[in-house]
Amino acid sequence: MPHPHIPSALRRLVVERAYGCCEYCLIPQTVGASMHHLDHLVALKHGGATVDANLALACIDCNLGKGSDLAAVDPVERVVVLLFNPRTQRWGDHFQLVGPRIVGRTPTGRATVALLRLNDEARLIDRQMLIEARRYPPLHMQEAPNMEAE
Ligand SMILES: [Zn+2]
Repeated sequence: MPHPHIPSALRRLVVERAYGCCEYCLIPQTVGASMHHLDHLVALKHGGATVDANLALACIDCNLGKGSDLAAVDPVERVVVLLFNPRTQRWGDHFQLVGPRIVGRTPTGRATVALLRLNDEARLIDRQMLIEARRYPPLHMQEAPNMEAE
């Protein structure tokens, strides 16, 4: 499916809303060699629109892993669930960081981790390097109420 033209103002809104970080794996856009993508939460082929409520910022790895899928299988409960939606759900409700590893806390979180391959070895290595450089998790996630230290 051809990539739709996304107006620059809409692109800027999506990037700024996400603090320039992938909304799935939280990797900052400034780290990768290439720019993050604008992910259609509901893909165009499923009738999704190019509007801010249907867009998320996603790194290339997450974007490719998700493709046009809407749902995936929770590897624990073996049920099909909708993927994590950064527009309607909070990251910290569905995922937690254990070192560089992203662990699903819910069926949705686990299914998203599996489909988007969030813990592939190369990605863990990248995140570990960022953790050591104090650039991960990104500041806006550290400040989120559900990420505060107890
Ligand atoms: Zn990502």
